[in-house]
This record gives sequence, structure tokens and C-alpha cells, in this order.
Amino acid sequence: MMAGQPDHKKNRHPRLRPGISIGLAVILLAYLFCLPRNLFKDTVYSTVVESAEGELLGARIAEDGQWRFPPCDTVPERFATALVQFEDRHFRWHPGVNPVAMGRALVQNLRSGHVVSGGSTITMQVIRLSRQKERTVKQKLIESVLATRLELRYSKRRILALYASHAPFGGNVVGLEAAAWRYFGRPASELSWAEAATLAVLPNAPATLHLSRGREELLQKRNRLLKRLLEHGDIGADTYAAALEEPLPQAPLPLPAFAPHYVENCPKGVRTRTSLRIGLQKAVTAVAERQSDDLAREGVSDLAAVVMDNRTGEVVAYVGNASPYRERPGVQVDIASSPRSTGSILKPFLYEAALEEGLILPRTLLPDIPVNLGGFAPQNFDRQFYGAVPAAEALARSLNVPAVFLLRQYGVPKFYSLLQARGLTTLTRSPETYGLSLILGGAEGRLDEITAAYSALAGTDRPSLATWYTLDALKEVNRPDELDWRLIRSVRKAAWKTGTSYGFRDAWAVGMTPEYTIGVWAGNAEGQGVPGLTGARTAGPVMFDILGLLPASNDWFEMPGQAGHNENSDRSSLAKVCVASGYLAGPECPQTEELLLPSACLESDPCPYHRNGEFVLPPAMEWFYKPHHPEYVGAGKKGASAQAMEFIYPSSGTVLYLPRQLSGEVEGVVFRVAHHSTDATLWWHLDQSFVGETRFIHELRLAPAPGRHTLTVVDQDGNTTTVRFTVAE
Ligand SMILES: [Zn+2]
Repeated sequence: MMAGQPDHKKNRHPRLRPGISIGLAVILLAYLFCLPRNLFKDTVYSTVVESAEGELLGARIAEDGQWRFPPCDTVPERFATALVQFEDRHFRWHPGVNPVAMGRALVQNLRSGHVVSGGSTITMQVIRLSRQKERTVKQKLIESVLATRLELRYSKRRILALYASHAPFGGNVVGLEAAAWRYFGRPASELSWAEAATLAVLPNAPATLHLSRGREELLQKRNRLLKRLLEHGDIGADTYAAALEEPLPQAPLPLPAFAPHYVENCPKGVRTRTSLRIGLQKAVTAVAERQSDDLAREGVSDLAAVVMDNRTGEVVAYVGNASPYRERPGVQVDIASSPRSTGSILKPFLYEAALEEGLILPRTLLPDIPVNLGGFAPQNFDRQFYGAVPAAEALARSLNVPAVFLLRQYGVPKFYSLLQARGLTTLTRSPETYGLSLILGGAEGRLDEITAAYSALAGTDRPSLATWYTLDALKEVNRPDELDWRLIRSVRKAAWKTGTSYGFRDAWAVGMTPEYTIGVWAGNAEGQGVPGLTGARTAGPVMFDILGLLPASNDWFEMPGQAGHNENSDRSSLAKVCVASGYLAGPECPQTEELLLPSACLESDPCPYHRNGEFVLPPAMEWFYKPHHPEYVGAGKKGASAQAMEFIYPSSGTVLYLPRQLSGEVEGVVFRVAHHSTDATLWWHLDQSFVGETRFIHELRLAPAPGRHTLTVVDQDGNTTTVRFTVAE
């Protein structure tokens, strides 16, 4: 028995202690985990979009119909001071509950027989806002416990911020930020003392602001609070006197809407800091609205503009559709991110790529003659042909036929991939479906994406020579006549390109300086064309107006290979180029110049047009080239060219539709041949039957029967040329 005694003694405490310890541990754990990780987990917030500087650009109401901005981590000092003074003077010292205040409230409530005071701390109110339970003694006890726990988790500043973000401010206005904008039209950080005091007392009786009899009561409450702030030394006598004079806010104000379409594209229910610059955004919006209101009189309803910083690749101004207040169909459409027909706006990317690969040199002559490529017969905008045009000039003048020749040479699938690599997401069909029309507006593009692709061109830190030549070809000297330059307020040096879609539906203009890229689109969101609408005339002036808003700079794109760009010298070299043809100079080219060229260009073919000291173009090119170049001599009677003659019309593979007269008789079509020699005689054979003879001017009207045909022409020296075509039924 004696042996059991010590055991008994030993065991008594250890048996009890675990019980107490476990009990305490459970309570401690329960306390530790009593507070949800995220107090406002199920709360939905407004979409808030800020400028790069942090200013409010626009906001959208939360899903539950409340103006409740996403929570901030801090509270502006004036509001914090006013709130603590009004709601919870010992906030900075108590541990979440204030027994003195609660006791006082209990006594007051018992005396009056109903609830006159809550005695709740700000911390307890945060808990209540997060739980939304009824106000009973039991709930109040729970809130007290949770409040002490919240104090352990967060700083006082953070707790104030939680309160400010979720307190009700009357109507559907929740949280300080939304209230400051709705009632005073400015951010909470810029509120006056009177305004801060008004918002400090409002959550206590949020309905009073909207009731006529409540307003007087609210004013008195605010003024009592101001007096307390004065007595407490938070404000001086002058501030106090001035604050008393400030009126209460009237009807809620609309929130800023400086970039409505951009806001629509931002993530919902959160705060987003964008790259838009508030000052520029407002200025670009103003220009776009003024221009859009002018254009509206010409039947052009919609206008979009995007400005990008080339150095950062960021969008700094974005007008999705100007003048949203002007009633018309389609005004809600964000045109800047809508796919539209591209017209000629993609041509610079082809020029640059062809140059980079050495397919052309900067001023290589490209053919500009009638051509039929698998049923596709491109025309220039002015419906003329120029025979042969230097590539840079063809780009600057936006000629269609040379662009199609170049694309055929470069390859449609390759160019298609290149556009995708440059960020175009709108090429939804296969390359074959677009074919060569890809370069003439056959594909659709978005203004925001196209502007970004241009910005990447202009912004390359060390531009390639091909990029530099592209920018050089697009610089402002190339001004279309259709633009009335006197109407443009500020003409700045810019590399720019325009585009006009088929049927005058889309007008594009994109301009680049070393710092910025500006993209403008004008037309009708609904798609109807407007006679006279062109990229240069309609979108160009808007682009230049916006350019005038940007900080001026005298810099121009620096040519790679010049001073400071020596690191590029291994990828490019000086070469002799034929001035007349733009090709690498051959032994017979009389006039040459030295050009710095992308290295791939050094592998390209030499000038094919200088023979025996004469500059001679192939017959069809010559035919169209001559009228525009009186200085052109050609081969004359010598027939120096390897090719003596060429069909101008039709080109091989054409399907002809023969016009009929009213009587039903088929009219026939004029077939045309160009011959180098001015006095050649030609004999014509249709399907090997002789059909006619021509001299000096080689034109013959024929009306072949429906079906396939071969037309062969022979000259006096035995040279022949043949064209195959089909006459439609
Ligand atoms: Zn030459």
C-alpha cells in the first residue's frame, strides 16, 4: 500500500493539468481561428480604373448595384481624425473593445428603456459590417471577441481602412472613396475638413442626407464634430469658421468617365492602375470629340484614337469611340478594339519584311501594270497605272499594284504569319482565303493592335536598316494632295501611313515620332460607307491634331550604322545602287549611289534594265511608264531589250466578260500590245487563225466565242508573244 501512496500523489496533478491545458489550448485555438481569413470574402466591389498617376478615370457599379470601391490600405488623415473623434475617441488605445464606453451605453440604454447608444468601437463596427447579423446582445458579445482578435491581426490604420471601405454612406453608396466621388466629386484624399466631417457622421445615420428633415440634423451633427475637432486642436479657428460655411452636398454626382470604353475592357470588380496618362487622355478625348462632331456633319459618326509610348510600348491615351453623348446607333461600340477592314494600313510591314530579306532594295522599281493573278486584278486608288515605281514611293503613295506584286514575291502565308507575330489577332481565316488581297484590306484589323504593331516598329531600340528605310519612306514629305494642310493646326514631322477600305467604309491614319505612335480610325460603326471618306482626308487631320498635343521633339529616327550604331555594321554594308532602277548596280549602270543596306540585299540581283548603256523597261511597264516620264527614251528603234513586245491587255489567265449592246450583239474587247520599236508591224493570230495586222498603235478589237483561246502576235523580226484567256458564257 505504501508503494501506492507516492504514485497517487504523483498522478493527481498530471491528471488534472492535461485537462486544463487541453481546455485552454482549445479555447486559444478557437480564438486564434475564430476570425475568417478574409472578412469581406463575399463582398463584391465596383470596377475602378485609374490613370498611370493614380487618378480616377472611370468606374462601374458593383454586381449588387452598390457603388463600393475595392478596399484601400490607408485612410486619408482628415477623415481618420474626424471619424475617430466622432465614433471612438479611444480607438488608438483600446484593444478592440472599450468596457467604459460599453458600460456607459448599457446604463444609458437601461435608463431610457431603449437603445440610444451602441458603445461599439470602430473595430466592432468593422466586424458587424463584415457579418451583417442582427443587433442583439449575443451578437454584440461575439463581435466584441472577434474585435479583439482583429486588433491582434491588423494595425489600427488597417482597421480604419477596412471601416472606411465598407461603411454605408446612404443610398447605394458604400465606402469612403465612392462617397467622396458621389457627394463631392473628388478623391477622399482631397476632402476639406467640413467634407471629411460630413462623411464621418454619415454612416451613423446614412439615410439622413436624402431626407429633407434629416439634413438639418446632419448639419448640426457635422458642426458639433467640427467644434470637437477645434477643441481637440485638430483644426485651427480659421479652418473651423470656414468649414461651418460649407454647405452639405446635394444630389449625388456622376463619376468621372474619361475613358469609358477602356474601362469596359478592364477586369471587373477590382481596382486597375492603367498606363493612360490623365492629362493626355483628357486632351486627346477633347480633340477627338471636336473632330468627331465636325465629321458627323459629313455622315461619319464614329471615331477612335489610340496613343502609345514607343519606348514603353504602353497605351497612354485611348478613345474607343468619341462623342458618346451624341445619340446614334453603335455609339456603345468600342471601335478601337473592333475588327475593321484594313485598307492599305498593313503595307509598311510588307515593305519592311521584303527589305529585310533582300527581296527589294529601298527604291527598287516595282511593276505597276494591269495584271491578273488567279482572277485577282488589283487597281490603284486613282485607277491609273504608272508602269514602274520605286518601292519606297509606292509605299508612300500607297499604290496597290506594286504592293500586290511584292506580296506575291514575298508569299501570302509568310506575310500572314508575320502579321500574327506582330500581334494581329484578327486574321481568322486561312492565308489561302485572303490570298493577295491580304495587302489591300482583304483582312480585318483592330486599331489598338495595329497601333501597337506600328509602335513596335518606331520603338525598336536599335532599329534595323529595313525599319529605318520604312520609317523614312513614310515621313511627312509624302503628303497627299487630298488633304487640306491649311486646316491642320500643327504640322509636326511624323512618319505616317493612311488606309481607306473598299467602299469608303474605314479611314485609317497612323503616325509615328521616335517617342509616340498615334492611331486614328474614322467611319461608321454600323458599316455604311461615306463618299469622300479617305484615310488621309478623314483620319489624317485628327492624327495631326493629336500629334500637336504631344511634347515636341526635334529628334528623328536615327539611321542604324551611323555614329553610335556601329554595333550594327556587321549586319549591313555599303553597296553601289543603280539610281534609275534602285537595284544593285550592274556594270552598265551609268549613275550609281552608295547606300547602307541590310545584309540580305547584297545577295540580290543586279539592275536588269540597263543594256548597252540604255535604260529599257519591259514593254508593258514601258507603255505605262512613258507618259509619266517624258525623259524616258527606251530602246527606240534599236530593240535593245531581250523582250521586244508584251501584252498589255489582257494578261494571261484573264476571264473576259464581253459586253453586249442593247440589241444583244456582242461588242468585243480591245486587245493591246506594247512593242519597243516605234514603227513595228504586228500580225495577230487567234487560235492560230490570222485575224489582223497593226502598225504604230497595236490595238485590235475582237469578239471571240465563249471558251478558251490563245492569241499570238508576231513582228517583222519574227519575235512572238502569246496570251491565253477565257471568254465567259
Ligand atoms: Zn541600272
